[in-house]
Amino acid sequence: MKRKNLSLLVALTIAQACVASVQNHSVSAQSSYQSLSVSSILTAAAVPAQADAGKYENLLKTIACPADQKQYGNFADTGHFEALNYCGHSAPAGYWVWVSPNWYIWGGLKSSHKPAEKPADTSNIPTQARVGGKYKDLLQRFDCPAKRAEEKTKYGRFADTGFFEATTYCGQRFPAAHWVYVAPNWYLWKTKDLNAIGYQVSTRDLQLKQQRLTLRFEHHKSHRAWAETSLNQLVATLKNIEEMTGIPYPGVNPYTLVEDPKLPLLGRAGPGGMELISPPKGTPWTILHEAVHIWNAGYEPNWVVEGHANYFSYLLMEKLKYPFIGDETYPEYIREWREIQGKADDYPLDNNYHKLPQGKAMAWWAMIHELYGPAFTIKTFKVLHDEKNLGTARMAQLLREVSGKDPAPLLDGWVRAGSYKVKRSQDFGLLKFPLAKAWP
Ligand SMILES: [Zn+2]
Repeated sequence: MKRKNLSLLVALTIAQACVASVQNHSVSAQSSYQSLSVSSILTAAAVPAQADAGKYENLLKTIACPADQKQYGNFADTGHFEALNYCGHSAPAGYWVWVSPNWYIWGGLKSSHKPAEKPADTSNIPTQARVGGKYKDLLQRFDCPAKRAEEKTKYGRFADTGFFEATTYCGQRFPAAHWVYVAPNWYLWKTKDLNAIGYQVSTRDLQLKQQRLTLRFEHHKSHRAWAETSLNQLVATLKNIEEMTGIPYPGVNPYTLVEDPKLPLLGRAGPGGMELISPPKGTPWTILHEAVHIWNAGYEPNWVVEGHANYFSYLLMEKLKYPFIGDETYPEYIREWREIQGKADDYPLDNNYHKLPQGKAMAWWAMIHELYGPAFTIKTFKVLHDEKNLGTARMAQLLREVSGKDPAPLLDGWVRAGSYKVKRSQDFGLLKFPLAKAWP
C-alpha cells in the first residue's frame, strides 16, 4: 500500500537534547535552516565582563543553569548553536558562553573576530561538490580526519547538508555557508544559484497575529502552478492554525519551502523551514500536516506530535475543502492499522510510533475528538507547546480532568501495554462530536 511517510524534521528533535548535544556539537545536530530571528535584545546591566569571551557582541539571552557548574566550571566558550530548548528555557541561535551560574547567548562576533570570507582554491573540485551547479563561490575546502569514520556512516560518499550559519566543526571556525560533503572533503559554498538548476522562487506575504510573514518557495520552474497552489494552501493553513490554537506562528521570517525531488519522505518541516517532495508525489494534506510541525516539531512523544499533525491537518482539510487524494485518507490509514489491531505487532503507541501504521495514532485522536471535542484536543496541543513533552502520565491526568473518571481504558492497549478495553469511542462514553468521515 502506498504510505505517506511523514516525519518531523529530524534535526529539530535535537532541540530536546541537553548538555550532551552542547558538547558534541556537529553539523548533523543543527537545523539546516537559518536561525530564529530575535527581536528582544536584553540589556547588558548585570553581565560579567568575561561573558563575551572577548569576542562576542549583542547579548540575546541569559539562561541560569546552576547545575552546569559541575561540567563547565567557572567559564567556558562553547561556540555557536542553533535555536534549542535548554535547561527549561528556549534559546535563540547564538554563541554560548558559560560564566557560572549562567549561560550568555550572543548574537554575533565582534568585527575584529569575524571569520575571513576569502575565495578558496577552486582547482580540482569534483563536479558532484557543485550539486549540478546549484552552488558557486567556494569559501573553503577541508577534511576532518578525526571525524572520517563518523562522516562515512552519516553521509556515505556524498551529502548536500544545506545552509548553516557560522559554526564550529572539527575544532575550526567556519563562516555561514552551504555545506556539501564529497568523501572525504567538505565544500563550503557562499552562493546558492537556483537559476543554474532550473529553479525559481515564488513568494507570498501574509498578515499573521504578530507579524507580516514572507513565505519563499524554491521550486523547479516547471512546477510553478503547484508551488502557487501550495503557497495559497499554506497561507490559509497558517492563519487557521493560529486562530484554532491561539498560539502565534512560531517559525522564522522569512519562511522557506524547498522542493526536493530526492526527499526520502513526502515532506518534513519545523519552525526553521519546510522541504516537500516534487509533484506528483505529495498532496495538499502533506503541506497541511507539515504546517502543524511548524508549531510542534522537536517535542515529545512522537505519537502525540505526529498524531496532532495528522489530526489537526485533517480537520483543516475538511474545513478548507481541500481534496484528499488517492488512498491518502483518514479512513484508509485507520483501516491499515485495523488489519493488525490486537495482534503481536500492534504495539502500544508510546515509544513505538515508528513501528506502527500511522492510523493507530489517528484513530486514537479521532476517538478523543468524538468524546471531548476540539476544545480538548486543542488543550493538549497547548500543553505540548508549553511543556515540550506530553507523556502518558500527563495525558492520563488531562483525560481524568475532562472525563471525570478513570482514563485507563483510553490508554491500555492504545498508548501503553495492556489489552484493549475500548475499541471505539462509544465503548467509553457518549459521543458528543461524532466524526462520520474519519472511520473506515
Ligand atoms: Zn509529521
